[in-house]
Amino acid sequence: TQALTERTTRELRDRTEMLLRGLGAVPPEPGSLPARTPITGGELASLPPSSIIDVDLAIGAADRAFREWRSVPAPQRAALVRRLAALLTEHQDELAELVTLEAGKITAEARGEVQEMIDICEFAIGLSRQLYGRTMPSERPGHRLMETWHPLGVVGVISAFNFPVAVWAWNTALALVCGDTVVWKPSETTPLTALACHTLLRRAAMEVGADPEVHQLIQGAAEVGTRLVDDPRVALVSATGSVRMGRTVAPRVAARFGRCLLELGGNNAAIVTPSADLDLAARAIVFAAAGTAGQRCTTMRRLIVHTSVVGPLLDRVAAAYRQLRVGNPLDEGVLVGPLINSQGYLGMQSALRRALEDGGELVCGGERVEGFGEDAFYVRPALVRMPAQTAVVREETFAPILYAMTYNDLDAAIELHNGVPQGLSSSLFTQDQREAERFLAADGSDCGIANINIGTSGAEIGGAFGGEKETGGGRESGSDSWKAYMRRATNTVNYSTELPLAQGIRFE
Ligand code: NAD
Repeated sequence: TQALTERTTRELRDRTEMLLRGLGAVPPEPGSLPARTPITGGELASLPPSSIIDVDLAIGAADRAFREWRSVPAPQRAALVRRLAALLTEHQDELAELVTLEAGKITAEARGEVQEMIDICEFAIGLSRQLYGRTMPSERPGHRLMETWHPLGVVGVISAFNFPVAVWAWNTALALVCGDTVVWKPSETTPLTALACHTLLRRAAMEVGADPEVHQLIQGAAEVGTRLVDDPRVALVSATGSVRMGRTVAPRVAARFGRCLLELGGNNAAIVTPSADLDLAARAIVFAAAGTAGQRCTTMRRLIVHTSVVGPLLDRVAAAYRQLRVGNPLDEGVLVGPLINSQGYLGMQSALRRALEDGGELVCGGERVEGFGEDAFYVRPALVRMPAQTAVVREETFAPILYAMTYNDLDAAIELHNGVPQGLSSSLFTQDQREAERFLAADGSDCGIANINIGTSGAEIGGAFGGEKETGGGRESGSDSWKAYMRRATNTVNYSTELPLAQGIRFE
């Protein structure tokens, strides 16, 4: 196996170099930051991490570029995003393959991730003509009261390994049409996809005559991110990753009165009620729980099933789980690729041990799939029946473990559902309108995303994306999420010859 693994790694390395060249990115000079493929665990390339000086220069360049960019009319700024969308469309397969190589996503999901980038670009282009402010009736005669949205400044984007390119696009497409400039610190696990995106955006800028300095890329681990977090020239820090990261980042940004947009971990659940279409529910559950090898922030991690349907539902889910093909994400028919690295695997095994100690019963899965080399970590998605929502169930383990619990009364099910520290995504499966509406009501799901009869993952870009509680409260992508990337000015214009004061105050 070892010789085969080494050969495969060599082939993947050559392929990576070809893809990078195809995307116009010069393969990096070797350095101390390795880019590994979870397919074999081998190294694809290495590159030098950004130094303190590099980060300082990148922020300085973005800050200078902002001074011009903010005054370019928004519909003209959209030309840059339009060109980026065209390049992404042209290079969709190459960029998707690079995502597969670096993050281990199956081809269909990697292509979907690039599609999401194109979708948000289109949204941003339309948005460039809709950055609306309101006009409010003034209480004073001869006065106009209105608000204007202005560009905010430099946006620092910190992103996670599991959506190495889409999260960047969500932030960058909106930030650019909003008149901001961007400094991106991708996950240290996915530096090559980041290099490819940066290259495409710089090329788009050059082709439309925009300043390429509107986008900066810095590479490295947490300490590189910290420089971005602490720099007062960075007006907004948009950070996607674990709750642990958010706990460090948020107070530091707050200490300098900067703005933070946090997209942190989730612990997403589905409630399955007696009237649910069980075939549909099972299909939705399997995609949400096992897709992306359980490494989505919206992955379904908890199932809360009515006792009257738990048997038939879990039978369906377990049957589907047993048929899932786990393996090389480049192979056709494979639905579950590798975990990102050994930590992902060890975290999963430790969570499974704790669940069993708490009285959990393993229905199926959980074991490592061998044959890909000792540094590659493939697992069968696990389904575990739990007697209660114990501590391990309340945590996010970033791997494919689905904990199933039962309920008898919908109020208790919703309480169990909301009884975790995270609040990202949620679903309810039912054909009963009362139950559906209850779940979406003020005393229903406490998450940022609440769905009926579809799973917790796979959001469209048109809606606002994000969650409550430890998920961080940020909203990205569609709806009016753009407001986080701009500053609001309230304007009162007096076009009369009088000077009436608000609240009827007399000062004479
Ligand atoms: P992570 O927290 O380890 O890293 C995320 C990013 O933060 C990386 O770029 C990392 O270098 C950086 N970072 C870490 N500590 C930092 C610090 N102290 N200062 C500055 N930067 C720091 O997360 P990960 O393992 O890459 O991704 C998985 C996690 O991300 C999961 O918890 C998942 O739920 C979450 N996630 C959330 C969303 C969302 O939209 N809510 C989307 C994707 C992933």
